[in-house]
Amino acid sequence: MPRKAVVVGAGPVGCLAALSLAKMGWIVEIYEARPDIRLPSSQASLARRSINLAISARGIAALQAVDSDMASRFLETVIPMKGRYLHDERGRESVQLYDSTGQCINSIDRGLLNKGLLDKVSSTENISVLFEHKLATADFDARVLKFESGRGDHMRIVQVPFDFCVGADGSYSNVRRQLMRVIRMDFHQEYIPHDYLELHIPATFDAAGTPQYRIDPNYLHIWPRHSFMLIALPNKDKTFTCTLFAPTQDLDKLSDRTAVLEWFRIQFPDIIPLVGEERLWDDFSRNPRSSLICIKAKPYHYKDRVLILGDAAHSMVPFYGQGLNCGFEDVRVLETLIREEKVDSQMLPAGVAVDDRLAKALDRYSATRHPDLVAICDLAMDNYVEMRHSVVTPLYRIRKRLDEF
Ligand code: FAD
Repeated sequence: MPRKAVVVGAGPVGCLAALSLAKMGWIVEIYEARPDIRLPSSQASLARRSINLAISARGIAALQAVDSDMASRFLETVIPMKGRYLHDERGRESVQLYDSTGQCINSIDRGLLNKGLLDKVSSTENISVLFEHKLATADFDARVLKFESGRGDHMRIVQVPFDFCVGADGSYSNVRRQLMRVIRMDFHQEYIPHDYLELHIPATFDAAGTPQYRIDPNYLHIWPRHSFMLIALPNKDKTFTCTLFAPTQDLDKLSDRTAVLEWFRIQFPDIIPLVGEERLWDDFSRNPRSSLICIKAKPYHYKDRVLILGDAAHSMVPFYGQGLNCGFEDVRVLETLIREEKVDSQMLPAGVAVDDRLAKALDRYSATRHPDLVAICDLAMDNYVEMRHSVVTPLYRIRKRLDEF
């Protein structure tokens, strides 16, 4: 009889972890707090949320390790971005390639990635997905999780026994909170004093009515302004999703349409014709403004029974474009260690309460993964200064030219 792994969170990392465990012979149940994002009723609430992200070699390698056909299907949909395309205050443009041998990062549709992974888990025989089940409490020693299902008078508590629990429940992880009650977890969380908000550059249409990009789609566009910046990533429908990162107190001052448009005219004069005044004000006033958090934790596991992955273990600021890539890499590293320690997915023999091999794999995971994850969280923080400021300093340009030689 195979053992049961419970994955908390059906985000991209939870889905990939479920696929990896199912491939290794576990029976997997995924519990997700929200409704299924593939249902038409979920679309309205997602309409104003982020629609793309950059996937790099790190994330692609992890997808390929779990399911190479699925990875190939995702890769067919990406838009390669070969470097930064800088737009300065005076509207001048310049290009900085990421790599002299042509390596790229890739813009991918978040929804397509999430839904593609959900379709894959839903069609995998030994995985079941339960939506609208929110983790409430956990008793890891008794190996029981309690979920809240339904709302109001219809809310009920569902008790779920498990052999192995994976917490992939995002930055504000409850699995992590429950884990803190049973282990001495070192934990650090830091908000940066900047918020982010998304805007959109629509497509333009040629004489035949075919949509076209307004700016070159094969770059990550940056409008660096030292203490804040705007970036744009291309989408398949010939639009761009722009993200404005700026200090909370600066954004607070932009309280009405006149102030917003005036600020954009001064700071980003070339953005207004690309976005259009009406759409700019509509996006600015209606899209959610969100904070940015960095989370470091250690260790990530308890005995042979629970492990946190993805943002639950290492939320990072998005300036290195590696948050999800690292979450996917967590899954690849875990699978490698489980295989190296020859962990068996079958029931433990009668009278054996702890799987020493799995405990060792998880120990090795926490010990080896932590320095890498702390390094990438720090690099992500440093890259904010690089993107909004350093890229336009003369010294940086000289260094970059020398690198290219
Ligand atoms: P999430 O995507 O947060 O999924 C967690 C899931 O758990 C959710 O579905 C949630 O509903 C569920 N959940 C939460 N609590 C419970 C509970 N109690 N019970 C049950 N379920 C629960 N990364 C990149 O690699 N490249 C990029 O270009 C990039 N750009 C970014 C841009 C921005 C502006 C931001 C904010 C982030 C960016 N990231 C990027 C980071 C990336 O979005 C995250 O790293 C990634 O979404 C984390 O995936 P996850 O599955 O770990 O967590």
